[in-house]
Amino acid sequence: MKIIAGNWKMNGTRSDLTKMLCTLSNLDTANRIILCVPYTMLCGGNDVVSIGAQDISCHTHGAFTGEISAQMVAETGAKYTIIGHSECRAYHGDTNSTVRQKATLALANGLIPIICVGETMDEKQAGKTMAVIESGVRESIPSDVNTDIIVAYEPRWAIGAGLTPTPSEIAEAHTLIANTLSDMGLAGTPVLYGASVKGNNAAEIMSIPHVDGVLVGGASLKSDDFIPIITSVK
Ligand code: PEP
Repeated sequence: MKIIAGNWKMNGTRSDLTKMLCTLSNLDTANRIILCVPYTMLCGGNDVVSIGAQDISCHTHGAFTGEISAQMVAETGAKYTIIGHSECRAYHGDTNSTVRQKATLALANGLIPIICVGETMDEKQAGKTMAVIESGVRESIPSDVNTDIIVAYEPRWAIGAGLTPTPSEIAEAHTLIANTLSDMGLAGTPVLYGASVKGNNAAEIMSIPHVDGVLVGGASLKSDDFIPIITSVK
C-alpha cells in the first residue's frame, strides 16, 4: 500500500472535484488516495479519496485576515493538510518554526499534517541538501507527536519544473529522513516523494527504499494523468 496525494494548488472548481471524486471512486486500489484542494472545495471526500487542505494558519483564531485555522479545515470533514509546501515557504515566508506551530495545531484538531521539507537549487549547489533536509525534519515536526503524521520530501528546485533527482539522490534523501524520524522516535512515519511525478516515473520512484508514496502537483489535476500514477503500484 502506498500513499498517493495530489496537490491541486490554486486550480480547479468544485465541479472538477465532484467529477474527480466520482471517477476515482470506481478505482479498485488498496492505495491511500488524498486530494489537497483549495479551501472552497474542502469536504469529506468519499470511501476511496480523502480530502486535505494545502495550508493552515499558525494561529488558532483572531485578526488574521484571509487565513484559515486548523479547526475550520477540520469542520469541513477534511482529514489532512499540507504544511510547509515549497510555495508557502517561498511566497508566505513559512519557516521550520512556523511549520512546527502549524503542525501542532493540525494535530490538535485531528488533522494529519503532510509536512514538506526539501532544498532549493541554491542549497543544492552549495552542497547543503542533506543538512537542509535533516534540519527541516528535526525543526518542523513537533516534539510531542504521538499520532499519525506524513513527511514529504520535495526538492524545491524540481517542483513543477519537469525535473527529478536521480533515483540514488532520492534514495539518499529518503534514507536520511527515515533514519532521522527513527532517531526522533517516529519510526514508521510514511515519507512521500514529491516533484514532477508523472505516470511514466511513478512506479520507479515508489520502488525506491523508504519511498512510501508520492505527492503530485500538476499531474493530479486530470484523472487521465492521476489514475496511471495511482495504479502504477499496488
Ligand atoms: C507539488 O506542488 O507539491 C508538486 C509536487 O508539484 P509537481 O508535481 O507539479 O512538481
